[in-house]
Amino acid sequence: MSAVEPQVLIVGAGPAGLAAAVTAAHHGAQVLVVDEQARPGGQIWRRPDPGAGGPDPLAGPAYTAGRTLLARAAAHPRITFAHDTTAWGVFGTRTTPDGFAAPPGTPVPEGPRVAVHGPAGVEILLPRALLLTAGAYDLPVPMPGWTLPGFFTVGGIQALLKGHRTLAGRRIVLAGAHPLLLIAAAQLVRAGADVAEVAFAQGLPGPAELTRALAALPGNRAKVTEGTTAVRTLRQAGVPIRTHTLILRAEGADHVTGAVLARVDRNWRPIPGTERTVACDTVGTGYGFVPSTELARQAGCAATWNGPAGGWVLVHDHAMRTTLPHIWAAGELTGVAGAEHAVATGKRAALDICLSLGILTTADHDRELTAVDRELATTMRMAKLLESTCAPDRAALNALADDDTPLCRCEEVSYGQIRCTMRDNPGLGTADAVKLLTRAGMGPCQGRMCGPALVELLHQETHIPRETLGPFTARPPIKPLPLAALAEAHATTTRTAAPPIDTDTDMS
Ligand SMILES: Cc1cc2nc3c(=O)[nH]c(=O)nc-3n(C[C@H](O)[C@H](O)[C@H](O)COP(=O)(O)OP(=O)(O)OC[C@H]3O[C@@H](n4cnc5c(N)ncnc54)[C@H](O)[C@@H]3O)c2cc1C
Repeated sequence: MSAVEPQVLIVGAGPAGLAAAVTAAHHGAQVLVVDEQARPGGQIWRRPDPGAGGPDPLAGPAYTAGRTLLARAAAHPRITFAHDTTAWGVFGTRTTPDGFAAPPGTPVPEGPRVAVHGPAGVEILLPRALLLTAGAYDLPVPMPGWTLPGFFTVGGIQALLKGHRTLAGRRIVLAGAHPLLLIAAAQLVRAGADVAEVAFAQGLPGPAELTRALAALPGNRAKVTEGTTAVRTLRQAGVPIRTHTLILRAEGADHVTGAVLARVDRNWRPIPGTERTVACDTVGTGYGFVPSTELARQAGCAATWNGPAGGWVLVHDHAMRTTLPHIWAAGELTGVAGAEHAVATGKRAALDICLSLGILTTADHDRELTAVDRELATTMRMAKLLESTCAPDRAALNALADDDTPLCRCEEVSYGQIRCTMRDNPGLGTADAVKLLTRAGMGPCQGRMCGPALVELLHQETHIPRETLGPFTARPPIKPLPLAALAEAHATTTRTAAPPIDTDTDMS
């Protein structure tokens, strides 16, 4: 890592983080951007390692904004990148002198201590302002066969293609409800894959949705063009795109050999007698995204349930401030709303950070705000349209799993085991309580895979509101970390000679 002192630390080099970095640096802030990936770009602008050869995944008009932002960030003298670096804990945000956690919002005299692990080992960073832009991940949807090799989320298939120039399989079925299915299918076709079918659980938009779509069009034409271009590519390649079609399960003994699909009614309930199997070696499901709020929640930032926006999202004000001092958030973890909106929220957060740090005058801040607020409003119209037309029917998806279906794949806990635990302990009312009794959510992914499905199962079984049930408590390290690195954390001196993190008290 560079020796630059991070005046502003940004976790995540996706659209939100990059836009924030460029905006803050432009106004004079020294910015350090950490990202666990090898190159900046986040999910949508993911690229292969330098020198990997082959066509640039960011070629084409849909990625003009990404290419420009990446180039500006790379060239800016006040922006430093720390790649392959994971932020795994945020400390000192709400701890009173006696060691007990104070309520969210309690002022603290200094900024947070951010523990990162990268090529240089563990470091503790002491930014004056911390901006979290950790993005989102595909909503995992358990169903029979979902742990078979060959079963992916569509984002995983796309990440292999963009980041490693690798086709996930030879014959691929994509199924779900999100337009990313179309984008990824077209990318796969162009890369030479055999896409057997793209299946959408919902129907074609009705008159009311088309009216809303027309209203969302101004300022969002590029997004619409990307979708229509993808459909044209698929039509030309003869790929069937079906609506009212749900994937029920994947078949196969030790690898996916087929996808079982069925016609569904408007509530995504399968219509008896319509089941059919499509032979394939790869399945990709795409039902939207889950905001990656673990680090923020571990820090103590408040989150709230917002199903259409992805589930648990961070509470924030109009300036992207979280409920904790010194910590801002932008992009998908404030609500899944697409890359363009992530960019706008990143800029909005950066303006407020610069104002708070005293490096931007109120007059300059307000002048820039007008354009950014317009951008936010435009991009939010498209986000709301996608929310209303593509949100997953969580109850219908929950019904796909049978008692033998693994729910927590890390700890190998099935739906049946969870149901049994619920029957034996009728008072259980939170995801954390079920986790303690079953170990679901205690594995290496820390519940990122099973958390949303567990909350839905509990909600369907008990009718307790989802916002009461979850999420799992987030603990450091929020992502896997070598034990040696953790041990070193005690001895690590910080860049500003702050005390090492107290893992005894903070890592309960
Ligand atoms: C797999 C996937 C593929 C997608 N593909 C498309 C697409 O093709 N087209 C499209 O329009 N939208 C796509 N989306 C949606 C798209 O991700 C978002 O709209 C947009 O990228 C959000 O920008 P962001 O900056 O909020 O987050 P992201 O782009 O997700 O960026 C977040 C960054 O934070 C980093 N990060 C997360 N946690 C940590 C941590 N603890 N420490 C260090 N770094 C961390 C990640 O490595 C990532 O680089 C995709 C989403 C996913 C999940």
